[in-house]
Amino acid sequence: MADSIVESKNQMVERKEGIQDNPLIEFHSILKEAMDILNYPDEVFELLKEPLRFLEVKIPVRMDDHTTKIFRGFRAQHNDATGPTKGGIRFHTDVTPEEVKALAGWMSMKCGITGLPYGGAKGGIVCDPRTMSLQELERLSRGYVRAISQIVGPTKDIPAPDVYTNSQIMAWMLDEYNFIREFDNPGFITGKPVALGGSKGRETATSKGLLYTLQKVLEVKNLPIKDLKIIIQGFGNVGSHLALYLYELGAKIVGISDVLGGIYDEKGLDIPYLMDSRDSFGVVTNLFKKTISNQELLEKECDVLVPAALGGQITKRNAEKIKCQIVLEAANGPTTKEAINILEEKEILVVPDILANSGGVIVSYFEWCQNNQGYYWSEREVDEKLKEKMETSFEQILHVSKKYRTNLKVAAYIVGIQALAETSQLRGWIK
Ligand code: GLU
Repeated sequence: MADSIVESKNQMVERKEGIQDNPLIEFHSILKEAMDILNYPDEVFELLKEPLRFLEVKIPVRMDDHTTKIFRGFRAQHNDATGPTKGGIRFHTDVTPEEVKALAGWMSMKCGITGLPYGGAKGGIVCDPRTMSLQELERLSRGYVRAISQIVGPTKDIPAPDVYTNSQIMAWMLDEYNFIREFDNPGFITGKPVALGGSKGRETATSKGLLYTLQKVLEVKNLPIKDLKIIIQGFGNVGSHLALYLYELGAKIVGISDVLGGIYDEKGLDIPYLMDSRDSFGVVTNLFKKTISNQELLEKECDVLVPAALGGQITKRNAEKIKCQIVLEAANGPTTKEAINILEEKEILVVPDILANSGGVIVSYFEWCQNNQGYYWSEREVDEKLKEKMETSFEQILHVSKKYRTNLKVAAYIVGIQALAETSQLRGWIK
């Protein structure tokens, strides 16, 4: 639990320092651009621009001081033409209906790109978990499941962790769901503890997927990983594990950031030391005299910049100041469309989130398969299958970007849209 609180704390501060634009507008504008290239009729855009189902709930929670607080929660199911919907649940003060809808759309794109038999979904609760006890978080998690139980299920809509939620929260949610349904349904939720039917390798899946994608990009660009200068914004689960993998491969992690700000050292940071030295709130930068802000960190010189915190970090307002060769989008929606265009003019390659961070949902799918089979795989098996999926998806998107002479972001949308359009058409939803 401590780890998750650490991650989210970092992300909350970064959100405040970041420059958040409306993610749903972002989703629409790239969707439209990709649709125009595909020459798809408007009805496809109309079908995909909003989730097919959106539920808003109010969750009464008895707090430790015996008062009752009413929390606002959401679940968006973007499109279930391909199969059940799939996506995480975010606990955050800044959660909005628009954000949840956009995130559900991005989940559909991720599932389409990677060939998973799912559509996208997303959930969120407006709350500040930093100020809540474990008991309050448990009651909130269980209350959310009770509120959405009619529209979720192992063959309907399968939740997972996202910002500020973790395997413990998934365990409470699973327990509540089983209680309601009166039998064991391990495939109702993914990202569970391994002891409750979770998959080996799920915890580090997003970081591993990012690593495999970056390795493919470096291969194309003919850049050796050794001594590559990397900045990672956000030192939570995803950012810190990615930092460690890259460090172990000989890259120089010159900057990272956390709740208090960022640290930068062009000689390279000692990542294992930083990981070991995080206090129970995950703060590492307090060990350093000289810190900079998260925004300053983004503008420092490096080869690969990895925004691994929240959305809306690189926009038209700061894109001009970014000095790197590659932006690897680890968070969902960290770079706006306008910013991508500016970066492109500066010949900076943006590796899109819906491809790069899809390792999480891929291993969630593996977890669901294992639950359905009742047979559990070794970490090595999970890892090999993840690598293969990430590499194949990257190659397909690279191919599409060359074919349509477009950037990787739009190419990724093209692949995702084509997958959804095919299943929607087969069902007779569109012409
Ligand atoms: N929340 C993660 C994402 O944004 C994982 C979703 C899942 O595993 O279903 O991709």
